[in-house]
Amino acid sequence: MADTPPRKPKPSLTALGDHPLAPETLMMGHGYDPMLSEGSLKAPIFLTSTFAFPSAAEGKRFFEGITGKRPGGTDGLVYSRFNGPNQQILEGRLALWDGAEEALVFSSGMTAICVLMMTYCSAGDVIVHSGPLYAASEGFVARTLSRFGVTYVDFPAGATREELDAVLAKAQQQAAAQGGKVAMIYLESPGNPTNALVDVEAVRAARDAALGTDCPIAIDNTFLGPLWSRPLDHGADVVVYSLTKYVGGHSDLVAGSIAGARRWIDPVRMLRNTMGGIADPHTAWMLLRSLETVELRMSRAGENAAKVCAWLARHPKVEGLGYLGMIDDPRQQDIFDRHCTGAGSTFSLFVKGGEAESFRFLDALKIAKLAVSLGGTETLASHPASMTHLSVPDERKAMLGITDNLVRISIGIENADDLIADFEQAFAAV
Ligand SMILES: *Cc1c(COP(=O)(O)O)cnc(C)c1O
Repeated sequence: MADTPPRKPKPSLTALGDHPLAPETLMMGHGYDPMLSEGSLKAPIFLTSTFAFPSAAEGKRFFEGITGKRPGGTDGLVYSRFNGPNQQILEGRLALWDGAEEALVFSSGMTAICVLMMTYCSAGDVIVHSGPLYAASEGFVARTLSRFGVTYVDFPAGATREELDAVLAKAQQQAAAQGGKVAMIYLESPGNPTNALVDVEAVRAARDAALGTDCPIAIDNTFLGPLWSRPLDHGADVVVYSLTKYVGGHSDLVAGSIAGARRWIDPVRMLRNTMGGIADPHTAWMLLRSLETVELRMSRAGENAAKVCAWLARHPKVEGLGYLGMIDDPRQQDIFDRHCTGAGSTFSLFVKGGEAESFRFLDALKIAKLAVSLGGTETLASHPASMTHLSVPDERKAMLGITDNLVRISIGIENADDLIADFEQAFAAV
């Protein structure tokens, strides 16, 4: 082996003749050639900090890719802060789900979000974002980027085209007064725990009209992606994930990613090369395992959620549901119909009563686990007002509808009738 010259992997198949292959098929082998790894069917985990160059000239060429002297990243492996085989295979497969040119993986969803925002925002700039955002994302904008002279303008997730035009006009004025630009539009859809959807198509139209196409639209697609929503198809430029949730899907790892056109991803790669924050080889390997079943898991979880919600909606101790399969607002339904192919498996359950009744319900659950997070194989339940959103000021909680009787549920892939039986016995304890 030591004397054989370095070999290039065989180009990966993405179609059979003119029949394009679906991502769920490509997850089993795309970007990996077993013959380069002793025939090992699955990619080995490459635990190494650095990579040997075939020649000095090749080493120079690889570094030109790392430093940005040549666009598109490096075509050789250099050093594990920049990339590695497991991460490259994973990035190639993640990009397929969103129809993206490029993807980058990070050690957490928040690392992906922070590095993305830092790449595009300079002192004086304004970031426009939908609300609510994941609390740590909102905090990074309001409390960290603000220390570097970046301000923000936010708008409620369901905003109409007219409202978006007004928000962008305000942001442009704010940027002019600070001597900067509107640097990024950052969305999260659906909002947590409101489940309010953002009209990405309207944001795109408003952005194009007010700002042209140099201000990227990024969207956190953790709750519906990659299966039930493909925001790049609706006008977003960069899609963001906490891979910790549905993509990882087994509640056993923390990671994040972004994907989009090379134009938007390359600058983020440069900052990741500098800062680090790439997912480690073991986590990348776990995610390759996860991606083989992501379509199966999400489909089953979505079917389960539909059955459970149909049952919950009729229960006398349920005041209401915030579930994308049962939207009562016509504008939100219109956004859903244009942007989503499934209602997901994470929803809000409003228990009749307050904190005491909600806690009794949560404490009585026997199959569903009492934990934050979502998108795993197991069903989880939590109480946002006293857990994930505890630090949110009371008046903002009220505005977002985060009440004391709100229980957040992420449905897993168990038997749906068993889950219904669990909820039934838990309600009996309330
Ligand atoms: C969990 C989550 C994040 C943060 O991801 P980590 O992997 O925990 O860093 C960001 N956005 C959303 C919507 C999330 O649910």
